[in-house]
Amino acid sequence: MKIDIDLKEKSYSVFIDELAKISLPGKVAIITNPKVSGLWLSYLLERLECEQKFIITIPDGEEYKNLSSVEQILEQLFSSKLDRKSTLIALGGGVISDITGFCASIYERGINFINIPTTLLAQVDASVGGKTGVNNRFGKNLIGSFYQPRAVYCESKFLSTLPAREFGAGVAEAVKMAVTFDKELFEYFCEHDLKSDSEVAHIIAKCVEIKAGVVARDERENGVRAVLNYGHTFAHVIENLTNYSVYLHGEAVAIGMVMANDLAVRLGKLSANEAEKIRAVLAKFGLPLSYKIQSVDKFYEMFYLDKKSASGKIKFIMPKGIGDFFVSDDIDENLVKSTLRAFQ
Ligand code: NAD
Repeated sequence: MKIDIDLKEKSYSVFIDELAKISLPGKVAIITNPKVSGLWLSYLLERLECEQKFIITIPDGEEYKNLSSVEQILEQLFSSKLDRKSTLIALGGGVISDITGFCASIYERGINFINIPTTLLAQVDASVGGKTGVNNRFGKNLIGSFYQPRAVYCESKFLSTLPAREFGAGVAEAVKMAVTFDKELFEYFCEHDLKSDSEVAHIIAKCVEIKAGVVARDERENGVRAVLNYGHTFAHVIENLTNYSVYLHGEAVAIGMVMANDLAVRLGKLSANEAEKIRAVLAKFGLPLSYKIQSVDKFYEMFYLDKKSASGKIKFIMPKGIGDFFVSDDIDENLVKSTLRAFQ
């Protein structure tokens, strides 16, 4: 399966379950981590033809998505004498793809980048959109660039080695897209348990199409792309309050969606029955659905720390029924607090 991402001169394709052979001119550096390289590097090497291959490994974990890893990668690229005709390949989850894309965007002012995401989250979300970057002590993804890959290869078989929680976190992001953009895809989640490669390939393809459509309309996140943050307004506060150490991001987003749905029900945009259906799908994939809020006032204040709360307004993205969305930065504080109290 091939999905074309239409971004004029920056267009590229996402290939799903089509990694038979990649032939590239010049040198290629594969950026990965020890876990993924142990599992899937040989699979890639067998299918990659190029002048010379280099493997650059950085330690596994979000805490290594930083400028010192960038420095270490660039150092190795210069020592290996990669040039503008060379290619960087990301082989890993979202951490590896974000950091590799960023390195590709700055090395000699930009070299070719191919993304091979190996987590469900990176396949359904990070593979399209061109956001690259690293974290620093001021926050996540604050240093980066918009830089499109030349191609993306998503293999459903990579997910056979993914821990169940990581798989669930990817499902949460995929359900997020279904609820806000595609009722049919949502029904697919209700009816399938995603145990087979073909089911997984189906949802990857649908999510890639949704995200591609959104990004084509809004490459630099000025409008509709914000809808992809459904659940995130609440999730960011939960992640902050739990020091990023209790929930995976997708798990926090699942709880955030349940909270956003509660607000949407109060606003009459979503029926209680629809909210329950969404909850049931998230539960089916083992996602957490609740977080005990200690202080409603503190939780509310923390919405303002989000970099997306531009000009002191809190933006909420909610479903309008299943398959559509509405966005508001003008919701009555008391109503939001009623939702928060429901989680005390
Ligand atoms: P991750 O990259 O940390 O991967 C999660 C874990 O799974 C890691 O331990 C990794 O080594 C392991 N792993 C990866 N592939 C595996 C496989 N096939 N089998 C077994 N284990 C495997 O996390 P993630 O959830 O993939 O990505 C999260 C990151 O992505 C965050 O840094 C986030 O900011 C970023 N992100 C970026 C975008 C974007 O548009 N650029 C979108 C969403 C998320």
